[in-house]
Amino acid sequence: MRARVAGWSNTLADLSPPAALPQQANASAGIGPPLWLLAELTYRCPLHCAFCYNPTDYTNHSRELDTAQWIDVLREARELGAAQLGFSGGEPLMRDDLEVLVGEARKLGFYTNLITSGVGLTDKRLGDLKAAGLDHIQLSFQDSTQELNDFLSSTRTFDLKQRVAAAIKQHGFPMVLNCVLHRYNLPHVDKIIEMALAMGADYLELANTQYYGWAQTNRAQLLPTREQLEAAEAVVERYRNTHGERCKIFFVVPDYFERRPKRCMNGWGAVFLGIGPDGAALPCHAARNLPGFALPNVTQMPLREIWYESAAFNRFRGFEWMKEPCRSCDEKTEDLGGCRCQAYLLTDVAANADPVCDKSPAHEQIVHLVRAAAAAGEEREQPILFRNDANSRKLTAEQHAANAAQAPREPR
Ligand code: SF4
Ligand code: SF4
Repeated sequence: MRARVAGWSNTLADLSPPAALPQQANASAGIGPPLWLLAELTYRCPLHCAFCYNPTDYTNHSRELDTAQWIDVLREARELGAAQLGFSGGEPLMRDDLEVLVGEARKLGFYTNLITSGVGLTDKRLGDLKAAGLDHIQLSFQDSTQELNDFLSSTRTFDLKQRVAAAIKQHGFPMVLNCVLHRYNLPHVDKIIEMALAMGADYLELANTQYYGWAQTNRAQLLPTREQLEAAEAVVERYRNTHGERCKIFFVVPDYFERRPKRCMNGWGAVFLGIGPDGAALPCHAARNLPGFALPNVTQMPLREIWYESAAFNRFRGFEWMKEPCRSCDEKTEDLGGCRCQAYLLTDVAANADPVCDKSPAHEQIVHLVRAAAAAGEEREQPILFRNDANSRKLTAEQHAANAAQAPREPR
């Protein structure tokens, strides 16, 4: 399956049987309820991945909702109609109330998934999470080799992840293995699949890097060549034909090598509701990127009002916000103009067409980036900036200095 879907981690939306939805009347005509709640419990993480999707200024958002506040979020989201719930981060196991939250989610009728690096997932916690009613676990690896796994996460975690994978299976959880792909590990796709098969993974998500957050900072290092991608996709296809019954393999296509953008989040404010550690409500994982954008917060506004009434969630609903060429494009109902955050990151204007689209005047920029990466080959001078607190503070200070030198910007 070549996934051309919403975000960074797509298997949950694709795989999980949704629990029965409570019957809710829509608060506003034409706006459906959120179906998928992503609870980013914390930005704390023992790993330092070069492609981490957390915001580069995460040290600016270190405040965390307490247990009671999270339970309120779960209850309100369920009342709105959300059926699937991902516990994510950072590393959600850094929260010692995770089992309590899973138990509450279970009582509310959510289908729950834990999205984890595996660090901290002891046998005891696995047992407690099972008892609390957790449905599903997604475990990330960085590669099939210890050397690259540990290099890319800037930790020694490969052996631990192997043990955790075995323990997840022993406790009887359905298991997704997730591996983010880029130029370093694309040549290992066959070994990554073999590793997933050997571990008894029920699903394998091979997610090509999306260039937001830390991945955007490290883009020059991570961008693969088209040849690498095509070779990897052929390998995936081969394994699907021989082992597809045992393990369902998702291959999330890389934006920069396409000519049409992804239907990002299946539409802004359409089905996805993310809540950051500090309670910020996010129409997409990367929405903190957008400048001048006041994200509503669950500590200040009921979730129903956030979803149906807030300016942030209504900003890119429908088609009225579109600029040309999207506004008059006969494909706009297909891709909804692509990703707002990518449009902003590459053109400085969030309402522009996603430059992945070859009808966008900015598409040439992406073509140039891909060509430059191919021409650079192994000789890429820019060092990798690993995700850690010191680098976050450095990037935040640089961003503040750049913002101070510019006039204030609004999302346009
Ligand atoms: S991508 Fe890596 S560093 Fe970022 S939250 Fe996940 S495990 Fe932690
Ligand atoms: S112009 Fe806009 S709506 Fe049309 S295909 Fe491109 S991104 Fe999609």
